[in-house]
Amino acid sequence: MKAFFLDRDGIINQERGTYTYQLRDFIILPHVLEVLLGLKNLGFKLIVITNQAGISRGFYTKAQMNTCHDFLQKQAQNIIDDFYYAPIHPEVSKSLSRKPDSLMFERAIAKHDITASASYMIGDKERDLIPARKLGIATIILSETVVSKYADYSVTGISKVMQAIGV
Ligand SMILES: [Mg+2]
Repeated sequence: MKAFFLDRDGIINQERGTYTYQLRDFIILPHVLEVLLGLKNLGFKLIVITNQAGISRGFYTKAQMNTCHDFLQKQAQNIIDDFYYAPIHPEVSKSLSRKPDSLMFERAIAKHDITASASYMIGDKERDLIPARKLGIATIILSETVVSKYADYSVTGISKVMQAIGV
């Protein structure tokens, strides 16, 4: 299987510069749903990989996060194959799941029988790309400002992603 891994905040929903865990703040960005559908139709598994350290810091609950993810899944007509989240913050304890570490990706690859070299990761921060690169997944930075040595591809909007990677 090939997969398209996606960071969440700043890629799927609006980055607010703080934790997003209320449905009213979970604003899905333009073109996201059509791009997800396009990638799905090309045979990619769609897997969201997100740091959610606010959970271990006590700012919100797993249930609140799941409410947002359920909403997203519904808007996306249930085409998202899986969600992985890392609830731990370095203030609380160490975690190999939290990006830039790679355990969430490794778990997804094992569970979904994914071929890393046929897969992509899109994120808006270097810490999204570092674990993907380590595992041989092609990396895409979505940003108008970040230039990253960890990025194989660079786009300024998600609507340009399929053209950028040539699929
Ligand atoms: Mg992000």
